[in-house]
Amino acid sequence: MAKIVGVTLSERVVAGLVVDHALTGGLRSFPEENDDEYALVEMPAESIVETLCDQVLAAAGKERSLTAVGVGCPGLVRHGVVEEAPNLPQLKGAHISEMLSAQLRERGIETRVSLINDADGFAAGIAALRGKLDTVVRVWTLGVGIGYGRYPLTEGVWEGGHTVVSLDDKEKFCGCGGRGHLEGIMGHRAMRLRFLDMEPEEVFEAAKAGDQRCIDFKKLWHKSLAAATATSIHLRGPGVFYLAGFNVRFVDMPMLKDYLQQMVKMSPLQSYSIEIIEDDRETRVIGAAVSAEQTAC
Ligand SMILES: [Zn+2]
Repeated sequence: MAKIVGVTLSERVVAGLVVDHALTGGLRSFPEENDDEYALVEMPAESIVETLCDQVLAAAGKERSLTAVGVGCPGLVRHGVVEEAPNLPQLKGAHISEMLSAQLRERGIETRVSLINDADGFAAGIAALRGKLDTVVRVWTLGVGIGYGRYPLTEGVWEGGHTVVSLDDKEKFCGCGGRGHLEGIMGHRAMRLRFLDMEPEEVFEAAKAGDQRCIDFKKLWHKSLAAATATSIHLRGPGVFYLAGFNVRFVDMPMLKDYLQQMVKMSPLQSYSIEIIEDDRETRVIGAAVSAEQTAC
């Protein structure tokens, strides 16, 4: 029986003990739910690793023989190292797997630590909870930035949020600085930069009310997601695409499907579907654990 602690690291460290793909006991969170969510941003990498260690131990409880620990981390992660972490820049270059397993050893737990991209962990969690561990699962997270996760885990990089969806030189609002990127159109931060006088909520409201500039943007927003999804279909085949994150509230499904239909024409690629799901911490923690289990074999 695989006993794995799954952890996600974003504004908070959230951990839980996962036994055979199910959460046993509750989730641990640091900072706690209502506490300062910027606590981690101000911590050096070593302190973040200590926090991870504390939460893993708390989640493990009396269990001392863990099959593995899986840590989902935003940004570009490879071979246990954070290569790029836009939201927690102090982690860039940190050997999280090595540091955390050394700390756990000092505190009585000898186990392997796998580091995975958090969006890929989310996709693995969706696959596990929906009995789809033998299929391809892709998920777009529409938030401050745009995340793209895919399951199964394979070697490589897919920064899907930075898929180029426009050749217009003026499209330069992506957080990474790249031109024409999906995140530069759909990301919450990018939308605020584009409409300095309006919040994204107001833009979509004004589109409903008939404001032409906002209608045009709403179309661009949906076309961009359709374009990035179509690219993924053309590279990896059809399947289910999940949408999650706080800005799924802006999704007009008929509009999105209409654009996608115009972009994917080859009949063997038509069997795709799109579904909106809730982004919850439990799915991400289970996903981090499932990913760690799979990198073991
Ligand atoms: Zn970008």
